Amino acid sequence: MIKKHRTKPEILEKLEVLQRRLPELHPKRDEVKQKYLRYAAGYRGEKAIDYHLSFLDPPHLILHDLRLFSRTSHFQMDTLLLTPTFTLIIEVKNLAGTLHFDEHRYQMTRRLHGEEEGFTDPRLQVQRHKLQLEEWLKHHSLVLPPIYPLVVISFPSTIIQAPLTNVIHAAQLPFEIETYKRREGKAATPFSSIQRVSDKLISACRPKEVEILEEFDLTPADVQRGVQCAECAKLPMKKGRNGHWCCPFCGFSSKDAPRSALQDYNALIHPFLTTEQCCDFLNLPSSQVTRRLLQSLNVPHNRKNKGRVYDLTNI
Ligand SMILES: [Zn+2]
Repeated sequence: MIKKHRTKPEILEKLEVLQRRLPELHPKRDEVKQKYLRYAAGYRGEKAIDYHLSFLDPPHLILHDLRLFSRTSHFQMDTLLLTPTFTLIIEVKNLAGTLHFDEHRYQMTRRLHGEEEGFTDPRLQVQRHKLQLEEWLKHHSLVLPPIYPLVVISFPSTIIQAPLTNVIHAAQLPFEIETYKRREGKAATPFSSIQRVSDKLISACRPKEVEILEEFDLTPADVQRGVQCAECAKLPMKKGRNGHWCCPFCGFSSKDAPRSALQDYNALIHPFLTTEQCCDFLNLPSSQVTRRLLQSLNVPHNRKNKGRVYDLTNI
């Protein structure tokens, strides 16, 4: 049973917006695109293992994207599988090519298109997560059955060169889990107590907050202003008299287009903005027009008149 579902990572959402909002010839555009592709592939890889996990027999609990604080730092586990006899931390890697794992030095080398590249060994990463989870449980006086780290490679075509270690292909996952089940034997921990720990883990989860402009050394001035067309991605759309916004490039028209622009502002710049900031960002002719527009979109605000701040968190 999935207790905590996987959601699209905030960084991926923000990278999507940033790609759309950076000018075509901006020097950071390629860097943003590369990062976006990397995160999108990682997310696809994580989702790919969900299919294989769906074959598992109960009882078990699955927690995706769990980010906890232990001692001095946060750590994030892709997937945590809780069963009455064992606990599995699954780290998903979406890497193509041939992956070679060095048993003694704990390093991973990838060969792809004739080139060799070194990576941080994911076995070390997931081993560290195990120690951090154990530390977290101890600190909260909670107990789980033995914890095992597992690295799952999501690309079926990737060649894994590893000794008999905890690195497997995604399709092998249900069978590997059966092996753990057989090895650990009869249930040792009541399922109700696993459920209790699972609830505590979920309530302690703190998703990472991403300041996407800072990540690329950008400022709000780098972001293109105006209402963007949802059809052709060009901007600015023009506000018509009937409350509809029309794209001068492709002719697409929409009444809700400024809402998307405000969502972009929230994702890239700040969740709160003043009437003046909104007027500037949406390229509107006056504060009065801006105020009317924000009212028509039902954007919550704090005060009646002067110094009014609008809250874009849930628009
Ligand atoms: Zn358009």
